[in-house]
Amino acid sequence: MTEYRFIYKCRLCGGTNESTCVSKEGTAQGLLTLACLGNPPLSAQIANEWHEAYSNPYQEKIELLTTHICQDGQMGVADLQGYKKVTTEEEI
Ligand SMILES: [Zn+2]
Repeated sequence: MTEYRFIYKCRLCGGTNESTCVSKEGTAQGLLTLACLGNPPLSAQIANEWHEAYSNPYQEKIELLTTHICQDGQMGVADLQGYKKVTTEEEI
């Protein structure tokens, strides 16, 4: 199974964490592009096209920033780095 995971990197400690993952590369590209544009509201037509293209309603949004709980108990700001493709073995 292949999935696309969004990666954040902490400004304070340099640690990384993974956020939402999606199963289609087009969805990942679309979410990343929309995040860079500030997640603008989509018209009903565009939202419908999104749903038809990705079989995924436009509800999940990726943010450019998030928080990171560092190992030393501090809290940092983490920036979206992009997404990575991860292939895992199918579970039966
Ligand atoms: Zn951190």
